[in-house]
Amino acid sequence: MVKPEKYFFLADGRILKNLRELALRLDEFSDELFRSHVNPDKNDFANWAEFVFEEKILAQKLRSTSDRQKFHIILLKDLLGRQKTKKIKKYKCDKCEKAFSSKVGLSVHSTIAHAKKG
Ligand SMILES: [Zn+2]
Repeated sequence: MVKPEKYFFLADGRILKNLRELALRLDEFSDELFRSHVNPDKNDFANWAEFVFEEKILAQKLRSTSDRQKFHIILLKDLLGRQKTKKIKKYKCDKCEKAFSSKVGLSVHSTIAHAKKG
């Protein structure tokens, strides 16, 4: 969940809740709208990524261009990379065959599924 104070308010009044929405909806933007946020003098979306979501590396990459297509590709590649890492389930339960993407996930599972009763 993204809190409302983290939303991005576009110049045309629409709202973006996160970077994924920006990537998916960028095609709908008029050139004028995109230019009003990204141009050689500023990059509002890179600032949003850095200061609201603490995505410093992504922000740096986004700042490297004011070209709309390049900007979009950088953003999409970043999001794609995240989806891949999310799917890797490297923490396997030794009591059953279930696997989890994080240690926390595994420990929640073993607490709930394998806790000794009584
Ligand atoms: Zn298990």
